[in-house]
Amino acid sequence: MKECTDKVVGDILAGWRYDISGLAAEMREDYEAHFADCARCRGKQRLHRIIDFSLLIIATGSAVLFLAAFLAVRHFNPSRALLMEIAALAGFAFSAFMWIVVAVTTPVPMVVAGVAKEQARKLHDRLPDEIKSKIPETLSSKIAE
Ligand SMILES: [Zn+2]
Repeated sequence: MKECTDKVVGDILAGWRYDISGLAAEMREDYEAHFADCARCRGKQRLHRIIDFSLLIIATGSAVLFLAAFLAVRHFNPSRALLMEIAALAGFAFSAFMWIVVAVTTPVPMVVAGVAKEQARKLHDRLPDEIKSKIPETLSSKIAE
């Protein structure tokens, strides 16, 4: 892998898991410039976001499976159903908890919000002017940011 073009900035970014989405716009500029210059940090940033999303998908999948298990126990009502229900619910609660931990400690919500904003902006740009003029000013400026 290529060397980082600026070790000091690279180390700071590594400490943040290459997440600058929480920074104020004026603080972000230098780091964005570094991501533009430095292929190594750019690659690492992508890797970390892939890890974040994978964790979230795994937590979601596991929550769904435990919930399905709970519903299956209810439906088929085998002997010792109560124990199995409790186990399934505990699994579901744990998965849901992990999901929240991942969502809070990683920039996934910021990334998702960013993508949503980007899509809204693209859609807005494609609208005919007569419709655009009917969209309230506040909403237009919100997605234009
Ligand atoms: Zn770098």
